[in-house]
Order: sequence, then structure tokens, then C-alpha cells
Amino acid sequence: MLEKIVIANRGEIALRILRACREMDIKTVAVHSTADRDLKHVRLADESVCVGPASSLESYLNIPALICAAELTNADGIHPGYGFLSENAEFAEQVESSGFKFIGPSAAAIRTMGDKVAAIKAMKMAGVPTVPGSDGPLGENRDENLEIGRKVGYPVIIKAAGGGGGRGMRVVHDEDSLMNSIQLTKSEAAAAFNNDTVYMEKFLGAPRHIEIQVLADSHGNAIHLAERDCSMQRRHQKVVEEAPAPGITDQQRDTIGSRCAQACIKMGYEGAGTFEFLYENGEFYFIEMNTRVQVEHPVTEMITWVDIIKEQISIASGNPLRYRQEDIKIHGHAIECRINAEDSKTFLPSPGKITLYHAPGGPGVRMDSHIYNGYTVPPYYDSMIGKLITYGSSRESAIARMNGALSEIVIEGIKTNIELQKDILSDANFAIGGTDIHYLEKKLGID
Ligand code: ADP
Repeated sequence: MLEKIVIANRGEIALRILRACREMDIKTVAVHSTADRDLKHVRLADESVCVGPASSLESYLNIPALICAAELTNADGIHPGYGFLSENAEFAEQVESSGFKFIGPSAAAIRTMGDKVAAIKAMKMAGVPTVPGSDGPLGENRDENLEIGRKVGYPVIIKAAGGGGGRGMRVVHDEDSLMNSIQLTKSEAAAAFNNDTVYMEKFLGAPRHIEIQVLADSHGNAIHLAERDCSMQRRHQKVVEEAPAPGITDQQRDTIGSRCAQACIKMGYEGAGTFEFLYENGEFYFIEMNTRVQVEHPVTEMITWVDIIKEQISIASGNPLRYRQEDIKIHGHAIECRINAEDSKTFLPSPGKITLYHAPGGPGVRMDSHIYNGYTVPPYYDSMIGKLITYGSSRESAIARMNGALSEIVIEGIKTNIELQKDILSDANFAIGGTDIHYLEKKLGID
């Protein structure tokens, strides 16, 4: 097993990784910016190294400084968490060539999945269902593009191969505006992602976002840990997640899940990963793969009893998976509400000092958060300050527990989105389950 791990991240995920390391008797090194000296995991880690000033470009994204921290502390592995450098192939490559284990897939796998055209091609070859579309990049030929548009059927969406974070896409409703939209998306993509490759997909009107969690080892074994429903989104940002997805049958889960696991084996994928799908009229359509642990991984942990971070570390240490597919059973239901330091109505970030904090508790309640009484939320990073997860034997009981936990939690001194979460959790359609990706924005009147 790896013996000492540098946690190349901050906030709740850094604390989550530290906790997994402690359980596994692995030493930890916290790396942090000058603005993050008071982070909870920095205080709990065996060692800590300040890697730069507040700006993430000079600290959490500073590859030489992070590798230097691993060298200084004699660590043997680096866990990238999510965000920051977690999906940066260059970082994975440099970590490995400096003699450390990158806790994640190979740089080559990250690179393939980071290029959406290449990712879709790999999925097709592996038998994972994709959105009907252009089958590769769009060229400059007008007639050819019009022909592809007719075949796919309007509306279509033009997407940048290098896009991410919900940027670099454009919906086209008719063929009169097709060529113009392709050109616009191309020039935006060139400026934003330094890559003007674009492709076309059918635009799905009211899909749900359903994703499959996978784990694959370096010995050719892969399993899936069922699905999560992350359809409750605002501006492509997930707000509430749950597992399993309401209405998905065991048979659907087995079929799509085993295709994803098989795809991992075919691709030689190693580590944890997520296949994201749009789901409409009973069909799954692959949109992208995340080659890292995700924010919403706890809901899967609660229903499968698998600790995803511990598995990541074990896999990176060269061990075979400790579970076979038949060992994975779904128990009950779990829901996660992201807690953000932001105004519930305007969504403007609200950094500052937390003057009072009371964590919720009780059976089936898990709070993954680095905040504490007197902690100051810095203005430089993402506004998520924690995740509240509840578990129950049924979806109804998970919802009831979440309602209780949301009314129990107290965070004073800064604004939070807890009121928004209460609104969502008491929404009649959320109670039924299965709302689409536009539901929250419609409810908020942002249509
Ligand atoms: P990103 O990497 O920027 O997150 P994705 O490919 O994951 O890009 O797409 C982000 C979001 O854009 C999806 O969650 C969905 O809301 C919307 N989207 C993408 N492709 C389609 C499509 N073919 N039809 C409808 N909506 C889509």
C-alpha cells in the first residue's frame, strides 16, 4: 500500500481523503495556499506544505510546487481530488515521471476523455450508447454539414471537442442558422479551449442526467457501483444528487452498468471514473466521462457500502479490486445537498467568517464539510463549503431525514443556499422523483 500521500486539493474533499488515509494507516501531507492555513485538514495532516499564494494558479494549479512538496516530504503518491489538476493529463504525466504514483487513471486515458470527440469514439467502440450525431468533427463543407444536420434531425447542438463546465455549445433549431452557428462555436472554442474542433449531436429536449460510477484496477477487473441522478441543476451545476435514480430498473442498471465496466476493461482504464449520460424516453446517451472522483460520490458510498476513496488508493497501490460485481448490492436510498456559501436568491458568493456552526446529526445523516465555528471562508475558491448527505431504507425516509437535517443545521455569519435546498426538498415534483435537467431553472424562473 502507498505509505504517504500528498493531498493536492483543499476543502471538504481534502478532508475526505485525509480521513480515508487515516483509516488505512497512510501518512498525509496537506498542501495549501497562504489563504488556507486554517483549513481543517491542514491542521489534522501529519505534515503540511504551503505551496503558494491565494491565487489557485500559483498554488493548487502550480505543478512544480506540488511535485516539490511530494519530494520534500518523501511521499509516494499524490491524490488530486476533483477540480484543480484532477483531469490534467500533463500533471498526471509529470507526477509519474517524477517517481510518484498519480492516484487516478493514466495520462493517456485522461487525454482521451478530455477530448470529447475522442471520448465518444472510444465509447462507440466499446459499445456504450452515445447521442446520435456527426460521428466525428464537423468539416468546413456546407453541403456535407447540412446533410449531417438533416440526418440527425433538428434541433441539434454544436459542441466543442475541448469544451467543459457547460461552455462551448450552441443549440441550432433549423438549417438556416446551422453554418453560422458552427462558425461561431468554432471561433469561441478556439479562443476558450485553444482547439476549434466542433461536432454535432441531436439536442435532447427534456433529458435527465444519470451517471454510472465505475472502479477499475490495473489487473483487468472493472465493476460498476450503480447510478446517480444529478438532474437538479442550475447553470449546469449540480445542486442535489441522489442514488439510485428514481424509476431505473435493476435490468436497466445491469445493462448500462456492465457496458461501462466493459468499456473500462477495453480501454485499460484504471481507478475511479464516472460515465455521464443524458437519459430520455428510457434510453441512455453518453455525453462525457469524468476521470476522477466526483463531488457526489458519497451517495453511491451510502447505498453500496463501498468507500470509493479507499478503493482509489488501493487500486493506485497496485492491488486488485476488493469487490466483484456480484458483491455490489444496493441498500436503500441516499440524497446529497450541496451547501454553498452563496445567497439563496441571487447566487452571489458569500465568503466571510462563520460565527456560529451547528452540524446536523442523527441516524443516516452524514456531513462532509471542512467548516467549523470561527472558520473564515476565503473569497478565492469555489463557494461549496460542504455536502449534507442523508440515507434511508427508502427514498421517502432519505427525504424525511434531509428535511430534518436541513432544519437542524445552523451556519451564521455568511449566507448559504440552505433555504434553496429546503425549497427543493419540499417540492412536490421532487417528491415524485425523475424531474429533468431543466426543472430547477424553470422552478426558479430562470427559463
Ligand atoms: P461539459 O463538459 O461542459 O459539462 P457536457 O457534454 O457534459 O459538457 O454537457 C453539459 C450539459 O449540456 C449537459 O448536462 C446538458 O444539460 C447539456 N447538453 C449537452 N449535450 C446535450 C444534448 N445532446 N442534448 C441536450 N442537452 C445537452
